[in-house]
Amino acid sequence: MAIVEPLAPSPDGHRRLGLRSTSSREPIHEITVSNRDDVAAALARAKAAQRDWGSTPVAERAKIVRGAIDYLVEHRAELIDTIRADTGKTRAEALMVEVIAACDSINHWSACAVRDLSDEVRKTHAFMRPLKKLVMHYRPLGVVGVITPWNGPFALSVNPTVQALLAGNAVLLKPSEVAPRSGDWAARIFHEAGVPEDVIQVLHGDGETGAALVSAGVQKISFTGSVATGKKIALACAEQLIPCTLELGGKDAMIVCADADLERAANGAIFNSIFNTGHVCMGVERIYVVESVADEFERLVEQKMREVRYAGSNSDELSEIGALFWDRQLPIIEGHVQDAREKGAEVVLGGEADTHGGLFYKPTLVRNVDHTMDLMRRETFGPIVSIMRVKDEEEAIRMANDSEYGLSGSVWTRDDEKGIEIAKRMEAGSVHVNDASISYGVLEAPFGGMKQSGLGQVNGKHGLRGYTFQQPIIVDRWKRKTEQHWYPHTEKTAEELDQMVKYVYGTWLKKLPFMRK
Ligand code: NAD
Repeated sequence: MAIVEPLAPSPDGHRRLGLRSTSSREPIHEITVSNRDDVAAALARAKAAQRDWGSTPVAERAKIVRGAIDYLVEHRAELIDTIRADTGKTRAEALMVEVIAACDSINHWSACAVRDLSDEVRKTHAFMRPLKKLVMHYRPLGVVGVITPWNGPFALSVNPTVQALLAGNAVLLKPSEVAPRSGDWAARIFHEAGVPEDVIQVLHGDGETGAALVSAGVQKISFTGSVATGKKIALACAEQLIPCTLELGGKDAMIVCADADLERAANGAIFNSIFNTGHVCMGVERIYVVESVADEFERLVEQKMREVRYAGSNSDELSEIGALFWDRQLPIIEGHVQDAREKGAEVVLGGEADTHGGLFYKPTLVRNVDHTMDLMRRETFGPIVSIMRVKDEEEAIRMANDSEYGLSGSVWTRDDEKGIEIAKRMEAGSVHVNDASISYGVLEAPFGGMKQSGLGQVNGKHGLRGYTFQQPIIVDRWKRKTEQHWYPHTEKTAEELDQMVKYVYGTWLKKLPFMRK
């Protein structure tokens, strides 16, 4: 759904929003916007509930949390219906982008939890090893605010939430006002598995609720959404000195080298540009193909795009492209395509909205684009394949890096080594070789954007531990009455320390391998 309209306030003065489906325009839901007082009350409940949850052994937390998968699988038909009503995406997309991604994320993180979140005794380096023992304690932060967008409203809520829960935190989840019921499901599966009610709570509303949550007194914000909102959140978090991760927008480049498997590249270009109606942060938004293979690549893309099944408003379960998820995305997409047309791009296929029944945009192929066009500079977030020819791979890398965004990217070549070398030169948080849009799902890989695409990284061991305070506990080994460097300092103290510098660091001793580790 996601035609969002204001309704009359509730008798107690709360703002209310009405939601209509973008597939059918039928009213489907209403939400009451949580205000500052509601957020404060939820935070108080979360703080109280977190004490027990945080002191539950991590293995026990993992066992409870993993149970969410069973509930999810059993109730997936109902969940898929809700996600589709919330967004307009196809059944296949609801399964791959949301259901499978969420199952995989819960399964993976609950399997890592004991290994990565239990106390661990770490070896100290040679200088300290005989003297001190280091115990690393991964201490829950407390209450974590999770704020999520509308394009993957279930999976993008589940992934940070499950990590925060496993780390022993309570979670206040603020899902997008555009897809609120998918957010409810992200809490429901954990409640049904046995996570206490107040340990994961959902706060509904728009920016008003999100802003109230950020400044309510939580210990961390995990945000996924637009650059503009991300910057506001960074400022609010800085004022309170709380950490945040910001997973923001992208304008991902795809580089098609002369030696690419053009069949795979064409298939990949189409799918990764238009799946999920093009509403994918790390979807392909710009394609650079080297001149020598451009004719053949463009021919293949056009031929294959004509075969993509698009039913638009004539609802058809086999349609491969869903509705737009949010009414306000339409003018952005239309504006970018119009701007490209006016500046000389060739719109080969599509290029128009289809709003007779629901709210759709035809899958669109645009050629001869360049960097004067919004289509190559701003996040379009629509079902558009945009192709620009470049002289060679050097020019492709230069153009790919000519962007204020740097979320993800891809290189298409038959030579993996070359692909990896080009990937290293791309200013992008993650890069794929002969694939795209998948790095967020490679859960052991840190995920995050360069430049305007974000701050901090999620996923990977460090992402999971990012929901804890990593507290080193230093334990003395010998329990002697005093230490050599404590008081009293005598006339010999400085001399002894100086001798130590001389004999340890002034000789070959320092080069011994065990001295350096
Ligand atoms: P958005 O920034 O408008 O909203 C995201 C969330 O923030 C929503 O829940 C919204 O209600 C809330 N919000 C709005 N104003 C707020 C404020 N002042 N304080 C706190 N919260 C506030 O983004 P969107 O339109 O929902 O999502 C689309 C954007 O998300 C795109 O730019 C897309 O690229 C990006 N995105 C990024 C990733 C990633 O992992 N990098 C993943 C998915 C989407």
